[in-house]
Amino acid sequence: NLSGKTAIITGSNSGIGLGVARELARAGADVVLNSFTDRDEDHALAAELGKEFGVRGRYIKADMSKGDECRALVEQAGDCDILVNNAGIQHVAPVDEFPTEKWDAILAINLSSAFHTTAAALPGMRAKGWGRVVNIASAHGLTASPFKSAYIAAKHGVVGLSKTVALETAGQGITCNAICPGYVLTPLIESQIPGQMKVHNMDRETVIREVMLLRQPSRQFATVEEIGGTTVFLCSDAAAQITGTTISVDGGWTAL
Ligand code: NAD
Repeated sequence: NLSGKTAIITGSNSGIGLGVARELARAGADVVLNSFTDRDEDHALAAELGKEFGVRGRYIKADMSKGDECRALVEQAGDCDILVNNAGIQHVAPVDEFPTEKWDAILAINLSSAFHTTAAALPGMRAKGWGRVVNIASAHGLTASPFKSAYIAAKHGVVGLSKTVALETAGQGITCNAICPGYVLTPLIESQIPGQMKVHNMDRETVIREVMLLRQPSRQFATVEEIGGTTVFLCSDAAAQITGTTISVDGGWTAL
């Protein structure tokens, strides 16, 4: 039970971040949702989530591409017992054609943001003698595919950062780990299905099985609830000695 704990989940107004926030709230944590927008619906989403699970639900706008805003997010939240670094973007292009501004944005949002938020959160965790840092990396934090150089470099970086933070916090009641999902069915992935069906002239089930999940031996998507459940486990007492490692939720991708 995570009641009395405050969790900050970066990039959490959709997809995996929102799924993780829901599972943490279900487990009793107060949740701070985040993205770079500041719309009424962002705040309403957090309030509804809080109401559904009887916890405090807040939304704080902060652009994870900017180091000072990452740190300000933690400051503004006041408490941060659980930090989930989830914000991330993707761009696909060969390395010799990869736009520099895309490289810089992906490194900033997918990797450097976790450095800044973690740096801002650790003093408070140390003061309480308890903390959990959960970084949402990827199967691409452990393996590569062509045309995703920035994303793969950033996700490998997140795995390395997680190990270093684990060593610096070992024995202090704080753990830091990375979850490495394979393909997870989020609105982002869902929106790619119609296009893939058209390009390959296949029905939905076939394109999912034969094209999208080619490298995922289960041939099944992971769900945001499963990523959330793994996060809740990493926050539990049973996971107190799990630190500096990765947990793959990838249907066997990295076993291939
Ligand atoms: P998504 O696009 O649904 O969610 C990304 C979230 O990050 C959104 O809430 C978005 O608003 C937020 N975000 C983007 N730029 C931001 C910025 N500058 N500042 C603050 N927030 C920002 O995608 P998702 O699939 O839920 O991905 C979430 C994380 O999971 C990413 O780090 C992604 O790399 C990782 N991941 C996803 C999959 C998958 O198959 N969906 C697999 C492995 C890893």
